[in-house]
Amino acid sequence: NAKVGGKNSFRFFTKRMNEHSQRLLTIGDDLRRAVAERLLTLHYQPQVDLGSGKVVGVEALIRIDHPQRGLIPPGEFISVAEENGMIFTLGEWALDEACRQRRRWLDAGFDDFVVAVNVSAHQMARGDLPEIVARTLAGHRLDGRYLELEFTESSLMRNVGKSLSLMQQFHAMGVRLSIDDFGTGYSSLAYLKQFPLDKLKIDQSFVRHLDEQGSDALIVQAILALSHALGLTSIAEGVESLAQQNILRELGCCEMQGYLFSRPLTAAAVESLLPRRT
Ligand code: C2E
Ligand code: MG
Ligand code: MG
Ligand code: MG
Repeated sequence: NAKVGGKNSFRFFTKRMNEHSQRLLTIGDDLRRAVAERLLTLHYQPQVDLGSGKVVGVEALIRIDHPQRGLIPPGEFISVAEENGMIFTLGEWALDEACRQRRRWLDAGFDDFVVAVNVSAHQMARGDLPEIVARTLAGHRLDGRYLELEFTESSLMRNVGKSLSLMQQFHAMGVRLSIDDFGTGYSSLAYLKQFPLDKLKIDQSFVRHLDEQGSDALIVQAILALSHALGLTSIAEGVESLAQQNILRELGCCEMQGYLFSRPLTAAAVESLLPRRT
């Protein structure tokens, strides 16, 4: 009966709400502690040129290195940080740490690759990111060409005028710009071609079944055609098998990133894979 059902679903709803806010509070506390106690860490995953086999970049991926719980992946705390406003602290920390590490690598003779940093839509919305990026690069005496910023389609399309202005400022600093998880959001092609972009990152959901029967090869082919038409470099995410790598190479994809070549590694561990100045 409708009345009882309604009451039950209301109770269910409030219970769910409480669980949600409880979870937010707990993770929120963990996050604040993680920042205060310096438990944040970056792992770096190589990006490989499919033609030459050379590492041309590394993506910086944030984790919490928890003394009891071990490594906590970003999937467990980024959305909470976006809800409670800590994303700005996390995002600025990640940018600063990635630039510090790139400077160290430069000083140690590792040349010719970029470090890519993920940017949240919330950071884009605030508008002070160009200032922060400029200050961070200067703070580490780092040329902009060593840094790449990754944006999602939705964060760029939310306010196109504002995004365009931000992107132009990053571009003027020599920073490379890429679109992450491409194909999972909604991009206006008319706008896309106005942005001073460098790279499309093909989402791993199109790569996962590439070596099986199905339409994914056609979708990847279409994204590559688009990328080519826009004059952009392309990279496939989540490449786990040789079969996937071979198909991507045949389709003309420029670069790949995934467990096949390497999982995300600590700064120390990734070093043996980095190109060195000769
Ligand atoms: P993303 O930027 O699309 O990063 C790629 C994700 O795919 C990473 O997960 C990476 O570990 C995973 N991955 C790489 N290769 C493979 C593969 O071959 N197979 C599979 N199954 N997965 C693979 P991770 O590190 O858990 O990061 C998840 C997401 O969290 C990232 O997705 C990004 O959206 C976000 N994120 C990570 N670091 C930051 C950050 O510093 N700031 C912000 N705003 N977001 C971040
Ligand atoms: Mg990314
Ligand atoms: Mg991605
Ligand atoms: Mg993603």
